[in-house]
Amino acid sequence: MSDDNKPRSPIESGCPDGFQYMHPVMRKNYGAWKFHEHPKPGVLRHVGYSGDEIWTVRCGTQRILDVFTLRELCDIGDEYADGYIHFTIRSNVEYMVSDPAKVEPLIKAITDAGYIVGGTKNSVTMLSHTQGWLHCDIPGTDASGVVKSMMDELIDEFRNCNMPNRVHITTSCCQINCGGQGDIAINVQHTKPPKINHDLVSNVCERPSVVARCPVAAIRPAMVNGKPSLEVDEKKCICCGACFPPCPPMQINDAEHSKLAVWVGGNHSNARSKPTFQKLVAAGIPNNPPRWPEATAIVKNILKAYKEDAKDWERINDWIERIGWPRFFEVTNLPFTKYHIDNWRGARNSLNASTHIRF
Ligand code: SF4
Ligand code: SF4
Repeated sequence: MSDDNKPRSPIESGCPDGFQYMHPVMRKNYGAWKFHEHPKPGVLRHVGYSGDEIWTVRCGTQRILDVFTLRELCDIGDEYADGYIHFTIRSNVEYMVSDPAKVEPLIKAITDAGYIVGGTKNSVTMLSHTQGWLHCDIPGTDASGVVKSMMDELIDEFRNCNMPNRVHITTSCCQINCGGQGDIAINVQHTKPPKINHDLVSNVCERPSVVARCPVAAIRPAMVNGKPSLEVDEKKCICCGACFPPCPPMQINDAEHSKLAVWVGGNHSNARSKPTFQKLVAAGIPNNPPRWPEATAIVKNILKAYKEDAKDWERINDWIERIGWPRFFEVTNLPFTKYHIDNWRGARNSLNASTHIRF
């Protein structure tokens, strides 16, 4: 067999070793930092036991970067920093320099190019960003557009550190997959069960996997017009949209009935307090591109109340825990409606329906 006909060996495409891309001072002092401080918004200074120090300048990006923007950001890194960049999980790009004299020229180059420096410490850092209409096949709303229009309004909260503690905001453009868990989350909310195109189901969908996919067992196989199809028990359906990805003929996205909802108080980390689930605080918000003004107004309103009322270092979940949910709805002027109560017929396990004390 000639070389050309040999099966090619698999290409490892997992995450590459990050150390090779790290600034040499970071690499040298890995795990041996003495302290770090925050000289000003968007700038961090780390000092190692070795006496080395490194300055990090953080700059916001829109995450979905075209190649020209990416080149421009890299050119700034080559010219004004030490040639190393690092992207944070919230799409901020960080430049590192070991010489403090380079910090101000670097900040000037970033701002002159039209980017913003900030996102550190007790600021509102960049919204975490799902794929939305640009890449994904199931979104009910966009992500880039929501992030852009909200961050345009929150730019001063990114540039400054005026919040009681750090604020993580997230988006989720479907109800089931990535994103959607943060101090404040803007998530899609479907309000109607899927509409089934029975002519297509038998050709497009693997029916047992679709049935298995439903978290509340609302889907069952059915024969419709002599063809194998599916049916949904609409009383059981929680309108989650989990059946739509494996079976596109079960269309759930709807211009009128797919809404946005805002949830607050989610915290993944257990570094300083226990992780918490977020809770719904605003439902049925219009999914209104290209600027989503209604959702943005609610987020700004929550941030304003948090900024005025929380104590230093309280995250949003800590603040609500202290003041209680009734007070949260008072200070944010958000209406508490029937949609905030879990009245789904299968919710016996989650409703506190007995007099037993639960821990
Ligand atoms: S949140 Fe859902 S729709 Fe949005 S990118 Fe993730 S999987 Fe796709
Ligand atoms: S939308 Fe969710 S709950 Fe409703 S049928 Fe589909 S998978 Fe089941």
